[in-house]
Amino acid sequence: MHINYNFLSIHLKALNLYRFKRKWLFFTTNELEILQLNRLKKLLLQFHENPFYGGILQKAGLTFQEIHNIDNIHEILSRLPILTKDDIHKHKEEMLNKNARGIFEDSSGGSTGTPLNFYHDETWLINMASTTLINDTMQGWYFFCPHVKLWGSPKDAGELDSVSGKILNIIRRRHFCDSFDMPVEKLWKYHADMEKFRPVVIFSYASSIYILANFLHAHGIDPSYPTRSIISTAECLDEQMRDKIQKVFKVPVYDRYGSREVGCIGGECEKHKGMHLHIYDHILECIDPRSGKPVRGGAGELIITDLNNYAFPFIRYRIGDWGILSTEKCNCGRNGPMLKKVLGRTTDTITTKSGRMVHGEYFTHVFYGVDGVSQFQFVQENREHYRLFIVKNENYQDDFTKSIVREINEVIGEDCCLEVHFVDEIPVTNSGKHRFTISKVPINIKS
Ligand SMILES: [Zn+2]
Repeated sequence: MHINYNFLSIHLKALNLYRFKRKWLFFTTNELEILQLNRLKKLLLQFHENPFYGGILQKAGLTFQEIHNIDNIHEILSRLPILTKDDIHKHKEEMLNKNARGIFEDSSGGSTGTPLNFYHDETWLINMASTTLINDTMQGWYFFCPHVKLWGSPKDAGELDSVSGKILNIIRRRHFCDSFDMPVEKLWKYHADMEKFRPVVIFSYASSIYILANFLHAHGIDPSYPTRSIISTAECLDEQMRDKIQKVFKVPVYDRYGSREVGCIGGECEKHKGMHLHIYDHILECIDPRSGKPVRGGAGELIITDLNNYAFPFIRYRIGDWGILSTEKCNCGRNGPMLKKVLGRTTDTITTKSGRMVHGEYFTHVFYGVDGVSQFQFVQENREHYRLFIVKNENYQDDFTKSIVREINEVIGEDCCLEVHFVDEIPVTNSGKHRFTISKVPINIKS
């Protein structure tokens, strides 16, 4: 069910919505809560007849009338169960609302090594694009300002290789540096390209820009780019990384949080006091996983409700991340709750035998669209020896192994040893997080 959207039409609609929505972050907390409650009610009413979610609402006693009458968002949430990735694996087709407009299938490698297939619709796409724009402009990017993307989505890379992609790139004033392919000679090239292109903003995986910062620092290079900001995404940006990146590039680094499943969840403003949550698009809860009770000010499991996806109910979805909700308010004028920190989104970069540095996200992309994998972990023992652990489910087909191994061999090299182990579970780290890539090889950026 893939739909080729009219790129221009979607972006014009998103732009229109952006002009309207960008004021919402400045609404009062009370106004934001009313907006959020109304959007949640609308979403639940949409799924009332859903083969999967209708039963859940019925069990929770949330009849049509009851949903209309409730005026407390927490009361609704407390009556709804948590949606797990396993629920999605088992009930994906029942969960789909076939009446939604412009449905398309999407997939995610998952931040925690759990691949997932699901659906989005046109309303979601337009909202996602408009909110991303709100976040981009808050973090220093404006229309048509030159920017570099230092990341590695093969989907994006494929688009960029096409003629239309290249034209769009010129119009958007965007340059792409592939962080799935970062040997030292490529780091030299990326640096030279950026010196020439002079981006105003760099969008990057936290660890990729950190590697580039370390590389430049190690060679005593003082880059003249970017001129305004660096936007870090997809992974934890710890303070030591942020300090190093800011020291080398001499511009502020903005953190943001999002996922393929639900889009852009929040981002830092110029005060860097935590991430403003786009609460008109999502409800983000932080809970104690044992009691299910809300946690404020301390670490808890993040549970997210996407208020725009009318094709697929991401309602109280266990996204797989931990975080801390802020108890403070920002003094920039934007209201609403803030996320202080996301914990544990770490990705190791793999340095192959040939010296190529491959961002850990590459391995999540290998599993995009593979339906039979509940979890995976890729471990680099040394430059020639790798181990892939897979927890498979009933949808796994034997020929998946061949294509997964082929894609991994493309980056590690055919002459390396890749062991595939099918296991019942993958143990979490001491901090309770699952790491989907682990490298035991230190990164060498000096050679
Ligand atoms: Zn702020």
